Amino acid sequence: MQKKYVPTIGIEIHTQLATRSKMFCSCDNDSTKSEPNTNVCPVCLAFPGSLPVVNKGSIELAIRLAHGLNAEISKDTSFDRKNYFYPDSPKGYQITQMDKPIIGSGFVEILIDGEFRKIGIHHAHLEEDAGKSTHPIGSDYSLVDFNRAGTPLIEIVSEPDMHSPEEAKRYLQEVYAIATVLGVTHGDMEHGNFKFDLNISVSEDTNVLGIRTELKNLNSFRNAERALKYEINRQIEILEGGGKIQQETRGWNDSKGITFSQRGKEQAHDYRYFPEPDLPPFELSDIFIESSRSPVKDIVLPIVIRKNLKDLGLKYDEQDILIGQSQTSDIFFEASNILNNKSLEKKAVNWLVGDYQAFLTSSETKNSKLTGKNLASLIELVESGKISSKTAKQIFNKVIDGHSPSDIVNQEGLLQVSDDAELEKIISEIIENNPKVLEDYKSGNVKAAGFVVGQVMQATKGQANPGKANELVVKLLDKL
Ligand SMILES: [Zn+2]
Repeated sequence: MQKKYVPTIGIEIHTQLATRSKMFCSCDNDSTKSEPNTNVCPVCLAFPGSLPVVNKGSIELAIRLAHGLNAEISKDTSFDRKNYFYPDSPKGYQITQMDKPIIGSGFVEILIDGEFRKIGIHHAHLEEDAGKSTHPIGSDYSLVDFNRAGTPLIEIVSEPDMHSPEEAKRYLQEVYAIATVLGVTHGDMEHGNFKFDLNISVSEDTNVLGIRTELKNLNSFRNAERALKYEINRQIEILEGGGKIQQETRGWNDSKGITFSQRGKEQAHDYRYFPEPDLPPFELSDIFIESSRSPVKDIVLPIVIRKNLKDLGLKYDEQDILIGQSQTSDIFFEASNILNNKSLEKKAVNWLVGDYQAFLTSSETKNSKLTGKNLASLIELVESGKISSKTAKQIFNKVIDGHSPSDIVNQEGLLQVSDDAELEKIISEIIENNPKVLEDYKSGNVKAAGFVVGQVMQATKGQANPGKANELVVKLLDKL
């Protein structure tokens, strides 16, 4: 029988920051339109005598991120040198933070198996990205582009708190949502804005960690889950066969769906860390911390949205729609404050994940002027029976255009006819003109009433309240 193995996963996320300039120089932080090696200067190319200056914007973004990670900011912070040689590192070292990272311990809540769980954050630190090497297929040379060298990064180091590939994926998605909603990163995963290394081990004894491997450089949530599943099975198979896990760095081959060995423990670097001599340690003032935090203090964090939507019975993927669209979640919260009723709030969500998404997908401009106030008013018009849900659907695009639902209804005469006297008049006329209806009804054919309701809807161009019409038809037929 196969023994029970518990996987343990810890994650390091590298997120590129949405600053205007690079980490230690004034080069543009956006190289998407630049030719290779044009967005560079003596500082990020590490010319002798050049000196780095810390980008104030990167510190501000770190303070914002700390807010989202429920973490303390270290007022006393400093940079260190991590020494290694690689052709895409012009300095021969990386400026990073080892002893005094700017963000201390915190946590991220994730929703897994219907419950909220806390995943610990060990710390997060600022550092710079390296350049980029490419190895053209079939050639005997490599190319290097230093445009990316010096791009500001924050590395977020989790505690080894995750125990399944799905849990790891949820954690990654949650941190991504936090970092993007707070404007810390642009979150462009295809361009390397959000990459991660996964540490994974399996053990039979939950109190003792197994030997771990590190899966390097993933940039998709789905692949992280696939790679972890593969790696957990691989490790279990080795242990079941009486073998030992090698502590090593492994890569992920997406097309083959396998992990492969890259570097063993014996080849591990000795980075010879020491305090960065070109940057003095610094102390952050309370005023600076407070002013950096203030732009994001009122932003509703993804987890708060998730908790609200879970209460309304929304599934994880539906929650993600609102979490990924801050404008849409703002509309939801505005509407839900006005409606202040669970069943009506659920209706607001249905509009937002249904018809509204259809508009966003099909509209070229995606120019929405939908407000929570107008959405709430549309829902209230249906709820009070003033308009039919069919009418609501018909006018929804105009509501997205910024028009008030009651104005549209009044201008276009779309009010549902619920007025008893008016409806009774229409019904009497229909019965009079169709004498067979009464005959059929009296002989026990209840479907005859349905025919009259259909005629009422036609006569009112669909503006009669169908429930009300049915009630009155039966009442009148019974009386005759
Ligand atoms: Zn530069």
